[in-house]
Amino acid sequence: MPSEFDIIRRYFTRPVKRALLGVGDDCALIAPDPGTVLAVSTDMLVEGRHFFAGADAAKLGHKALAVNLSDLAAMGAAPRYATLALALPEADETWLAQFAQGFFTLAGVFGVELVGGDTTRGPRNIAVTVIGAVPPELALRRDGAKVGDEVWLSGCTGDAALALAHLNARVRLSDAALAHCLARLHAPVPCVALGLALRGLASSAIDVSDGLVADVGHIAERSGVSVELCFADVPRSRALAACADERLAQECLLAGGDDYELVFTAAPGSRAKVAALAAESGLALTRIGSVGAGEPGLVSVCDAGGKIMHIASKGFDHFGG
Ligand code: ADP
Ligand code: MG
Repeated sequence: MPSEFDIIRRYFTRPVKRALLGVGDDCALIAPDPGTVLAVSTDMLVEGRHFFAGADAAKLGHKALAVNLSDLAAMGAAPRYATLALALPEADETWLAQFAQGFFTLAGVFGVELVGGDTTRGPRNIAVTVIGAVPPELALRRDGAKVGDEVWLSGCTGDAALALAHLNARVRLSDAALAHCLARLHAPVPCVALGLALRGLASSAIDVSDGLVADVGHIAERSGVSVELCFADVPRSRALAACADERLAQECLLAGGDDYELVFTAAPGSRAKVAALAAESGLALTRIGSVGAGEPGLVSVCDAGGKIMHIASKGFDHFGG
């Protein structure tokens, strides 16, 4: 049975290039890039809450880092470092090797260095902290949306929630649709390049982790504005478009969590720039609504006829009803 220190050495100690000092001392030592501030964020994955017992370890390693990188993307920050706090019921070396492989493969894609963490026995729990760099004046904050701005969404929402609906036997997806939706659920790709490209272009941004309406609501609240979303303009993946249960489709699109797409606002005069960015990057960027001067924090969703729709669930809240 490997000791705590064997685990750290074998699975989580990699040479660092950018950090002054990585894993192995009481603290890591890192220096901010000139002209930037550090963007710091933590997200935790808890067994039984965010993933099922027995979930694929490599995918967990990927997702634990991906959901954190998504927060850096939403801030327009360039990923730099991560720390990893891991509670494990036992020192299962097969699990550790697979987890580390998933984690470090994604870390390599985005040039993230693992510089520290903590390892303890306990119910399986994975907490990652990421540190990124962004010039302070270019950070994509939630509080910058202005009345008259337009609301944009990258990619599509709802696929991860549709995968969960299939796993919970609420819907039966075709094999192709299921494979697509499961990949979206278990191996999300953070929109890091988009976040960087939106510096100086977006007036505010957030990543969609709890549900589209709930997360747009955070922008509305922090910016002191209202937002109107046009339901007919919210894009659907092929898997979601094929869903015959329109109520479920609506719930997935508007309130399904775990999408890790970016929602951002931009001035109407920036429309051509956003379109050019979409064309250059090959990303789908869709205008789904607008920012208004109504009740601050209010998000309303309108149908094709402009009528306000009743939304049963806005998104996920661990302690909410
Ligand atoms: P301390 O007792 O000072 O908290 P630890 O013995 O917990 O130190 O950890 C030893 C070193 O290993 C530290 O540099 C710590 O950051 C690092 N570390 C511990 N667990 C992990 C992990 N899961 N991933 C990366 N680094 C880790
Ligand atoms: Mg420790």
